[in-house]
Amino acid sequence: MKLKDTIAAISTPPGIGGIGIIRVSGPESEEIGNLLFKHKKKVEHFKTHRLYHGDIVSPENGTVLDEVLITIMKKPHSYTGEDILEINCHGGPVILQSILNEVMKAGARLAEPGEFTRRAFLNDRLDLSQAEAISDMIMARTNRGLDLAITQLKGNLSEKIKSARSSTIDILALLETSIDFTEEDIEVLPASELTERIQSIIDSLEEILSTYHEGKIYRDGINAVIIGKPNVGKSSLLNRLFGEKRVIVASTPGTTRDFIEEVINIKGIPLRITDTAGIRNAENIIEKEGVELVWEKLSSADIIIIVLDGSEKLTREDLEIIEKNRHRNCVLVINKSDLTHIINIEKLDDLLPGNKPLWLSAKYGDGIPALKEHIHSLIISNRDDRRSDIIITNLRHKTALEKTVTFLSKARENIREGMSPEFAALELRESLESMGEIIGETVNEEVLDRIFSTFCIGK
Ligand code: GDP
Repeated sequence: MKLKDTIAAISTPPGIGGIGIIRVSGPESEEIGNLLFKHKKKVEHFKTHRLYHGDIVSPENGTVLDEVLITIMKKPHSYTGEDILEINCHGGPVILQSILNEVMKAGARLAEPGEFTRRAFLNDRLDLSQAEAISDMIMARTNRGLDLAITQLKGNLSEKIKSARSSTIDILALLETSIDFTEEDIEVLPASELTERIQSIIDSLEEILSTYHEGKIYRDGINAVIIGKPNVGKSSLLNRLFGEKRVIVASTPGTTRDFIEEVINIKGIPLRITDTAGIRNAENIIEKEGVELVWEKLSSADIIIIVLDGSEKLTREDLEIIEKNRHRNCVLVINKSDLTHIINIEKLDDLLPGNKPLWLSAKYGDGIPALKEHIHSLIISNRDDRRSDIIITNLRHKTALEKTVTFLSKARENIREGMSPEFAALELRESLESMGEIIGETVNEEVLDRIFSTFCIGK
């Protein structure tokens, strides 16, 4: 990747808005500013990080394209660590595109996804785990997800990794000294002390690793499916959970033809819920397709919300649905609690022992907070015992940490078994390598391409 050229992109989302921002980064930023921005002062004489008011004018024919505010952020104190020009225009797509075109004619090229952040990483403005945190912040769907990303951006994970690396380097240095002095038979440190030190690094990394399950849930959310025979109130429940009417509710069984998917926030966890077309023998094509998709969704769901109608006796259809899902992570909901309770719940305990049904009224909202609370407790078991102050959310970090722990454990065993120190030293070096992957000290272009390609353009 070239770092010498100047890149540009529209950094605000597509569409119409109050303002739109074009960001330019690289050595030609000031020159491009001078070419396009009409002001009594030259851009290179602007104070850094200050807003200046003026027009963007096409250099070819002098047409005013927009009245804007621009900022120059001089290197190295900018997001990318390079000279940055930011143009705050009026937020219309035609304005933004025409100014971007002029910026490109003046010498910039269109930035690739995440290229601004990639440059920030390559210029040591942040490490790789912090760069990833920026993408997570933008993509966060709940406040909790955002908190975790901010903690990572602030470098908490990087600090832990750097500290584990530095302890490993100390041990490696001791081992290497003992390799140098093997002839003289000097024991630099007793083997038991070396293994204890390695163990304490392993413990600290395992503590971080143990948070991944929870972290992934906060970042990526989980999938739930609402199932039940037609007319039990699945769509009504979904509407109630979303807080507004989005699904057509009707009293003819099988009205919800396709499935609807939405994300709701359950105490910081993004929960993707799918409503189903009803599990019944499909009579027409649309419904048949719907039913097939339902089975697909069902098999990948983390939680299955089974809805029953409390104002009716259980039917064979209800029992079949419960039977089919009894080994899954189920929430049993009895809807229409506002009507006379007719359902014969004794049977339920035989089918799903210990799974206490939750009564609620999708129509009036009773029991909804309890349902959310219950779902939350199913997803996140009581984590008060968690010792780690950071939570990892990224599979790449998890994999690298697991590799690290394996190498460290091998080193520990080698020392314990009294093998020559070279072997343990080799494992420790491997562990340093995999810790380096997390903060980006030891990653290749391919990995960087993969990480930054998931970013948006302009970030
Ligand atoms: P679905 O086919 O399972 O999606 O069921 P719907 O949500 O379309 O609801 C079917 C019918 O039951 C509609 O007439 C709803 O108004 C009604 N309904 C849903 N929930 C409740 C409830 O909690 N109480 C009462 N009394 N009626 C409800």
